[in-house]
Amino acid sequence: MSTSISKSDFLRASQCEKRLYLHKHKKHLASPPEEKHLSIMNMGTAVGELARKRYPGGVLVSAEFQNSKDDYKAALIESTKKLMESDVPAIFEASFEYQGLFVRVDIMQRTPKGWSVYEVKASTNPKKKHLDDLALQVYVLKGLGVHIKRAGVLLMNKRYVKQGELNLMELFKFKDFTKKSLMQRESIAWDLKHYQEVVDREVEPEVPIGPHCTSPYECEFRAHCWSGIPRDSILSLSGNKTLAWAFWEEGITRMENISANQLLELTPMQRLHVQAQKDGMTYVDEIALDSFLSDLNGPIHFLDFETFASALPMYDGSGPYDQIPFQFSMHLLRDGQLLHRSFLADASAGEDPRRAFCEALLSAIEPEGDILVYNISFERRIIQELAHHLEEFAVPLNRLIHRMKDLIDPFSERMVYHPKMKGKTSIKNVLPALVPSMSYEHLDIANGAAASFEFAQLMQYPNVENHDEIREQLHRYCEQDTLAMVEILRVLKDLLKDKTQ
Ligand code: SF4
Repeated sequence: MSTSISKSDFLRASQCEKRLYLHKHKKHLASPPEEKHLSIMNMGTAVGELARKRYPGGVLVSAEFQNSKDDYKAALIESTKKLMESDVPAIFEASFEYQGLFVRVDIMQRTPKGWSVYEVKASTNPKKKHLDDLALQVYVLKGLGVHIKRAGVLLMNKRYVKQGELNLMELFKFKDFTKKSLMQRESIAWDLKHYQEVVDREVEPEVPIGPHCTSPYECEFRAHCWSGIPRDSILSLSGNKTLAWAFWEEGITRMENISANQLLELTPMQRLHVQAQKDGMTYVDEIALDSFLSDLNGPIHFLDFETFASALPMYDGSGPYDQIPFQFSMHLLRDGQLLHRSFLADASAGEDPRRAFCEALLSAIEPEGDILVYNISFERRIIQELAHHLEEFAVPLNRLIHRMKDLIDPFSERMVYHPKMKGKTSIKNVLPALVPSMSYEHLDIANGAAASFEFAQLMQYPNVENHDEIREQLHRYCEQDTLAMVEILRVLKDLLKDKTQ
């Protein structure tokens, strides 16, 4: 009898057969999923459940948990068989096994000409990994003689804008993969046998690390497989990693081993990274930095937004994955005095936070002075979307955009480079390099993804015991972002002073 593997096992193995082996035999070596992955998984579940509502009368396959996983799977398969023999119009999570490959199909719809098979994804664009996933289901169904009329992926329609009740027929869009999924059957048959043999092995397969460790998914065994990689390895080069992997395969594993000629093949930022790693020097282009700093007009506002994006639009006038701003922090530097103003929406109110956010923002900003943000495209986009949604505020909001300047410019345009930036220009890298006394490490919420996750949790569980504590953590995190900008600007001025003295 063939060794039984699931669809997820197969997909794991397509990325790396060692990943499958470790998952089956040494699961304890896996790192726990990060919060951002948990929230993606939760979103996927919510989207999957909502998609079922497009098929009224559909029945979810379920079974009591039995003594063993195998018994449980057998019960699910038996339950599916009975539903297929009945006249239910659709089956959710239909379960099948063929040649040891176990799959559950998100949605199967009965039609006079056969079954329509749908894989639901909380994504707006079709991807190769969606096709691979669906192809495994089609392989099993065809193998068992199920007549498939069509097979494809139900995706989120990015053009959909909610008005009133969610319109499920418009919220989802269908991508037909019938032909493409059928074309993969031969290769699946071969791979399946090979992966089953990998699972049955006594010893771990020897697979070197490579670009497959992060694509198409971040592998949960990286901490294990990458444990011997030195800190200054060539793989820590930021940006496009193609060249770094090419060097790695040639045996050039450390930055210090890169020759002058090879340095020329890197991007300017990667070159600075390697150079600073070798000589430990801070690089300052005083002319460009002077021009950036001289161009700033006070009073200076340091502004940062936090947002959440839901696959399922929650408010009228919003669509899948629209960024909804729920918090801002602003420090104001006027005549050497620093003031702080902020806003955090009431998650428990269940209301669209955009209007309150917009009103608080417009009253917090002074009529004059530059607005410094870090990575302008994000804040500018949020303001543009607010102006589009709340037309009565469009004029003052658009005026804010014209006053915005970007504090990332001195770093992304390589006016300043510190060796501890490690080739990256995000505020999380720049702050500890330039202001070592400040970091995000002591904060319970230490990045934007965690902030959106926690705010979403507050919306979902408004009566949670530590509600006030979480709000306090959110305040502290966002305030840290703008205080960090204040300090970064101070250090930039000091660096210029040092250079010109
Ligand atoms: S970290 Fe890389 S080599 Fe190790 S199991 Fe994962 S994908 Fe394979």
